[in-house]
Amino acid sequence: MIDLRSVNKEELESMVVELGFPKFRADQVMKWIFKGKNSFRDMTNVPDSLKLSLEKIAYIEHLELVRMQVSEIDGTKKALFRLSDGNMIESVFMKYKFGNTICVSSQAGCRMGCVFCASGKLGLARNLTPGEMISQILDMENATGEKINHIVMMGTGEPFDNYENMAKFIRLANAKDGLGIGMRNITVSTCGIVPRIKDFAEEFNQVNLAISLHAFDNDARSSIMPINKKYPLEELVRACKDYNRLTGRRITFEYTLIKDVNDDIKAAKKLVSLLKGVHCHINLIPLNRVVESGLDTISRDRAKEFADSIESMGIPATVRRELGSDIDGACGQLRLSKNIN
Ligand code: SF4
Repeated sequence: MIDLRSVNKEELESMVVELGFPKFRADQVMKWIFKGKNSFRDMTNVPDSLKLSLEKIAYIEHLELVRMQVSEIDGTKKALFRLSDGNMIESVFMKYKFGNTICVSSQAGCRMGCVFCASGKLGLARNLTPGEMISQILDMENATGEKINHIVMMGTGEPFDNYENMAKFIRLANAKDGLGIGMRNITVSTCGIVPRIKDFAEEFNQVNLAISLHAFDNDARSSIMPINKKYPLEELVRACKDYNRLTGRRITFEYTLIKDVNDDIKAAKKLVSLLKGVHCHINLIPLNRVVESGLDTISRDRAKEFADSIESMGIPATVRRELGSDIDGACGQLRLSKNIN
C-alpha cells in the first residue's frame, strides 16, 4: 500500500492515469491531502470511482495524538504521536516573532548515541517515512488550529542518517502543491555526518544547515558524540568550509554548554580558533539536564558571558531562548525519564 502523504505530484499523476482517470484529478486529491484530510470520504470533488480505486492501493498516513502538553510559560506545545506500528515520536510547536515553527523528528529513536541526549539512549527503532514527517506538520496543525510556516529538523533522530526520506520530505514541504513552506524557512540539524553535508549543499542550497558541535577538540567531542570518532573535527570543519563555498550560506553551530565540561574562557578561545575561516554563527544552548547522564546545566548569565567572549573574538553568538522549559520542550534533548519508546 502506498502512503499518499509520501508521494509527490508527478507520482500521484502517474497513479491516477494508471487507474484510468485524467491527470487533473491528481491535483484535486493532492489538495485534500495537504489540507490535512486523511479520509478519501472528505474529498468531495473527487469521483467515487477514483476514491474506490485509490483505496485499493493507497492510504493516507496520519498520526494518533496520544498526548499534547502545553507550556504554561510560553504556550509551546509538545505532541506525543503514535505511529501505525506502535512506535512513538514527539514533535514540538513553538511560536516565534517570525512565525510558527515545528520541530520535526526524523527517526523513531536514534543510533548516534550522543551522551547528553536522552532521545537516542535506547537506540534506533526505525527511520520515519516522508509521509510520517509531513504528518507531524499536518496533524500538529489539525491539533492546534495553527498554520505552520517554519520547520526545524531537530527532533529525535539524525536527519542525515535517513537522508533520502528527509530529502523527499523537504521537497514535499516546499512544493507549491505540497505545504508551500519556503526552503529558507527550513533548517536541518546534523551531528556531523560529513559526506552528507556535501550532498546537502549540492541538493538544498537554500535550506539552513545547523551542526551540533558541542566541543572544541576531538577528545572532548568524541567523549560526548561518538560520531566524532568516524568524522573528526578537521574533516567536519573542512566540509563546513566547502559548504560555505558551494552555497554562500552561513552555518549555525549548536553548542550545548555543559557545566565544567566546555563552558570556560579557554573553551571559548579554542572554539573560536577551531571555527576560524568558517562563515558561521554559534547558538549556545544551556544543557537541559538529563539526570541519568550525570551532566549538569549552567546558568543563563554564565551562558551570556560565554556568548560575549565568543562575539568579542569575532564570531556572532546567541544564547538560545528556552521555549517550553516546563514541558521538556527542547529539541533533541528529550529527557530519558519522559522517554516513550
Ligand atoms: S542529539 Fe540528535 S544525533 Fe545525537 S543522539 Fe540525540 S537525536 Fe541522535
